[in-house]
Amino acid sequence: MTPLLAACGITVRYGSLAALDGVDLRVDPGQRHALIGPNGAGKTTLLNVIAGATRPRTGRILLAGRDVTRRGPAARARRGIGRIHQRPAVWATLTVAENVEVAALPHAVRPGRWRPGGTRAAARRTADTLLARVGLADLAGRAAGQLAHGQRRQLEIAMALAGRPRLLLLDEPAAGLSATEVGRLVEFLRDLPRAVAVLLVEHRLDLVYALCDTVTVLRDGRPLAAGTPSEIRASAQVRQAYAEGVG
Ligand code: ATP
Repeated sequence: MTPLLAACGITVRYGSLAALDGVDLRVDPGQRHALIGPNGAGKTTLLNVIAGATRPRTGRILLAGRDVTRRGPAARARRGIGRIHQRPAVWATLTVAENVEVAALPHAVRPGRWRPGGTRAAARRTADTLLARVGLADLAGRAAGQLAHGQRRQLEIAMALAGRPRLLLLDEPAAGLSATEVGRLVEFLRDLPRAVAVLLVEHRLDLVYALCDTVTVLRDGRPLAAGTPSEIRASAQVRQAYAEGVG
């Protein structure tokens, strides 16, 4: 099977620090793949490289077999990479609905189906559907800047889904959420259609084990282990790495 995502030999350096040192990672279509590891292991850096926000010094990124290494974030988003940031990135002065509409617009036009006003209407319908799914329908008219942190997180998820991703990159989505919000998030992610693969960076291992079928452990910019949740849970090497460095 052609992997949905193949990161091959990725190296990123900041001065003398190798944030990533020849990392390989594969995500198959529909897979729920977690990327874990102690602070500073290189997890966010790897998501940045996959999303096109950071250019690696060496290595290639293939999306469904196509080399996108030289493509920027917008081009990769068009090819199916959606992203949730550590701190939710929303347009504070736009309404909640407008945020999702903006994200949906590039995908609202169907070839041969364009008609004046139709594109915006299609984006609006997508926004309505997604806001209902993430539980923000009642806040559709509110400025996004007025939302609480957990609601911004939900909004960012709706925006990412509006881009019709094949691969969703989630960077610590549970950070700053209440227990109730985490429960809702887990349920929501569990219910995502398998047409969307997930690459999840998360410190909370309970969440990782609840959601993911494959886990890759990074340490000091290198893969330390990869396997199923039960294999990773049983690994003394992984336990030691976490005991030494997770925050
Ligand atoms: P955390 O779990 O704390 O978020 P992480 O595994 O996501 O950590 P990264 O944020 O990818 O780790 O950072 C990897 C290393 O690269 C760290 O040592 C970090 O300090 C360093 N680093 C990341 N971004 C930069 C940058 N822009 N300039 C210099 N060093 C950086």
